[in-house]
Amino acid sequence: MPTDSIDRARLQQLTARERAAFADRHPRSAAAYARAGNLFGRVPMTWMNKSAAGYPVYLDRARGARLTDIDGHEYMDFCLGDTAAMAGHSPAPVVEAVTRRLSGLGGASTMVPTEDAALVGAELSRRFGLPAWSFALTATDANRWAVRLLRAVTGRSRILVNSYCYHGSVDESLIVVGPDGRPRSREGNVGAPGDVTLTSRVAEFNDLDGLARELAHGDVAAVLMEPALTNIGIVLPEPGYLAGVRALTREHGTYLINDETHTFSAGPGGATAAWALDPDVITIGKAIGGGVPVGAYGLSAELAARLTGRTDLDLIDMGGVGGTLAGNPVSMAATRATLEEVLTEAAFAAMIEVATAFADGVRKTIAEYALPWSVAQVGARVEYRFAAPAPRTGTESAACADAELEDFLHTYLLNRGVLLTPFHNMALMCPQTTTDDVARHHEVFAAALGELLT
Ligand code: PMP
Repeated sequence: MPTDSIDRARLQQLTARERAAFADRHPRSAAAYARAGNLFGRVPMTWMNKSAAGYPVYLDRARGARLTDIDGHEYMDFCLGDTAAMAGHSPAPVVEAVTRRLSGLGGASTMVPTEDAALVGAELSRRFGLPAWSFALTATDANRWAVRLLRAVTGRSRILVNSYCYHGSVDESLIVVGPDGRPRSREGNVGAPGDVTLTSRVAEFNDLDGLARELAHGDVAAVLMEPALTNIGIVLPEPGYLAGVRALTREHGTYLINDETHTFSAGPGGATAAWALDPDVITIGKAIGGGVPVGAYGLSAELAARLTGRTDLDLIDMGGVGGTLAGNPVSMAATRATLEEVLTEAAFAAMIEVATAFADGVRKTIAEYALPWSVAQVGARVEYRFAAPAPRTGTESAACADAELEDFLHTYLLNRGVLLTPFHNMALMCPQTTTDDVARHHEVFAAALGELLT
C-alpha cells in the first residue's frame, strides 16, 4: 500500500485518540509545562517543543537504555538524547570519573589543562587516524572552528555542504538546492548574518557531477559533510561516492571535513575507520562525552603544521577559535572514561548486532504490509523512511517526510513505552539496549500499523 493511499481520516482519528491517551497518562508533565511560563516557548531549549504528543514528557531519571518520566512511565529509549547518550544514560565509568573530578579532586572550569585531555587526543587519533585534536563543547562549535581554520589556511571564502545536511547551527550550512536547481537559504533559517549563497556552495549527496561543478569555481575552502546523511532520515553513500568526493576535493585544492557526530554509530572509529575514509579534518561531539557536553575536531599533520606556522592568526585569544569552557576538566574526564571503558570495540559489536535485529524486524513488518518504505542502518543507528527505494539525496529524503504519519507513530509508541527520536524515525542502540527491547518495539510498531492499515 503506498503511503499516500493511507486513509488520512483514519490516521487523524487515531492520532487524536493517542494524544488524548497521552494527556490522560501525563498530568504531571502537563502541569510542569504549564508552570514553565518563564521559559521561551515553555521549554529550556526551543527544539524540545518538537513533540508528537502535544507537549514533552518531563525527565525524572534515566539509566542505560531506560528513561522514566515524572508521571512514572518508563521508556525504552531509542532516542538516547539524539546520540548524546549513545553510551547509555549515566554510564558508571563516566559517573565515577566526573564525580572523582568534581568532588574528589575538584575543579570544573580551570583554564589549565588536565592530563586526561592528552589521553583523549591519543585515543581519538588511534581510532580516527588524524593526529592533532582540539576541543569544543558542542559539535556545532567544532564545525564552526574547523571551518574558520580552513578558510584561514586556504584563503578561500566558501564552504560547500550537501543539500539538507545538518551540522548544528553553523551559518554556512543552512543552504539547500532549490526546486529550480539553484542554491538558496534553507527554509526557516533564523536571522542569517548575510546571504548564505555568498558564503556557501551546495551539492546533492551522491552527486559527484554537481560537486565537481561547484568545486570548479575554485573558491571552496572545505567540503563539510557527513559520510552518510543522518539528519534527513539516513541517506547512505552509493558505491564510489565517498572516494569520488575525496578525489575531487584533492583535485580542486579543497579540504574535506567529515562530521562524525552521528556516523560515529558506524563503529569505534566512526565511518572513517569502518569505511576506510581519509578526510583532512574530523569533527565530532555528543556521544564521546557519555552525556557530558564535549565537541572535538581532529586535523591532519599537514594542516596542523600549516596552522601553527601562521603568525598572523590569533589562535590563542580572540581570533574566533576556542571558548572558555572548551576542554574543561569535567568534559575531558567524561570523554576519557567513555572512550576507554564504555564505547569500546566490544560495545560497538554488540550494539550493531542489536541494531541489525532492529532493522531486520522493521523490514519484515514493512514487507508484511507491503508498504513502500525503506530502512537504512549505520552501525548502531537505524531509520525507516516513507519511500522505497531509499532516497539517494537529501532533497529526495526531505520530499518523503510525512509529519502526520510520524506524529501518529511516535505518539502510539510513546504511549506504549517506546521513545523514538523526534524529527524523524531514528532508533539508536546503546550498550544496554537488548534484543528484547527491540522485540517490544516491533510488537508495538506492528500493532500501530495494524490499527492504521487493516
Ligand atoms: N553535526 C551533526 C552531524 C549533527 O547531527 C549535529 C546535531 N544533531 C551537530 C553536528 C550539532 O551538534 P550539537 O547540537 O550538539 O552542537
